[in-house]
Amino acid sequence: MRIVVQKYGGSSVATPERIKNVAQRVKRKVDEGYKVLVVVSAMGKTTDNLIKLAREVSPKPDTRELDMLLATGEQISAALLAMALKDLGVRAKSFNAFQVRIRTTEEHTAARIVDIDDGVIFENLKDHDVLVVTGFQGVNEKGDLTTLGRGGSDTTAVALAAKLKVPCEIYSDVDGIYTCDPRIHPNAKKLKYITYDEALELTALGAKVLHSRSVEIAKKYNIPIYCASSFNEEEGTLVVERLPEWLEEPVVTGATISHGQIKVTVSYLPKDANLLTAIFNEVAKRLVNIDMISLVPSNGDLFLSFTILEDHREDLEKALQEALKGVEGWKSSYQGGFAKLSIVGVGMRTSPGVAARFFEALKRVGITPELVTTSEIKISCLVPEEKAEEALKEVIKEFEL
Ligand code: ASP
Ligand code: MG
Repeated sequence: MRIVVQKYGGSSVATPERIKNVAQRVKRKVDEGYKVLVVVSAMGKTTDNLIKLAREVSPKPDTRELDMLLATGEQISAALLAMALKDLGVRAKSFNAFQVRIRTTEEHTAARIVDIDDGVIFENLKDHDVLVVTGFQGVNEKGDLTTLGRGGSDTTAVALAAKLKVPCEIYSDVDGIYTCDPRIHPNAKKLKYITYDEALELTALGAKVLHSRSVEIAKKYNIPIYCASSFNEEEGTLVVERLPEWLEEPVVTGATISHGQIKVTVSYLPKDANLLTAIFNEVAKRLVNIDMISLVPSNGDLFLSFTILEDHREDLEKALQEALKGVEGWKSSYQGGFAKLSIVGVGMRTSPGVAARFFEALKRVGITPELVTTSEIKISCLVPEEKAEEALKEVIKEFEL
């Protein structure tokens, strides 16, 4: 039995017409002899609208109830797609997370998939050619519906593919993964291949490539992900473990900007490793992501700087108050209006001088880097928000992206 997982994003199922178009595409795959597991997102902006609706009722909605609400979005598209498929004569059936027992961890709105019951799937594949499964949702130990975080249907798709050890195709309104956001930079090039590591860096940096958890799973189980458009037949991008031998490795594969960064500086900290641990623990407890950390000693004190996203400021302030209770003389300052500009590429491992070229490009637009972080395949730099796009353009030129 040849099985494939196909995922269709929100814009691909935004209207009845588009749902029928997706049904046609799925049917073609069935005609080629495949059994298809289709994972769908909620129609268009449904999830956004549901969140808005919840906030009109409650300013900070209870997360269990929020998940209960959000899970309806995907159920609508799954049911409609199954109807459209049946009208085309395809033996199809829709399922929600509960029915295929997509088991997740506890955390509402940010749950992780633990396991999927392939028994239900194989049982139903006996007399169906297409199973349509709701993306983005699962069921926790308590039997409550959970969701996987915004954009989480990618993760449902890859988790299903990993469970069944079959390929995964992800369709959306962009026809692949680009060197940088093609909606902002029309000259961006489409990549034929990208490695898991690069895709992970890019998603972590805020590029809307794939849900990052989905790439983690794909990497762990070595499931190739094919990303393409549901609106045309253009060749897409394959996310793989390593680039094919014949392909000349580019030094930099992609560049991206992550907006809304705040630079936090905590000054006059006593030099005490326990305090640092306390700060990072309190921050982690509140699920605040901090990034670009720098520690500078000065006259027996420590100056700690790092970045956070604007939304996390309140939680961070609480974390600092808690961790530094009883400590005297420290100060914190918050400076907004920053963006993080990053370049990513596995080729950096083997080509020296990438950082020099990166900083040279930034210098040409008058930027002196403030905070910098690197990994083996990434360099990120904090830059003023108002210069970020211009800087990115210069970087694109420098690395011929
Ligand atoms: N519908 C959900 C969202 O908008 C999940 C997804 O699209 O993947 O975040
Ligand atoms: Mg969506």
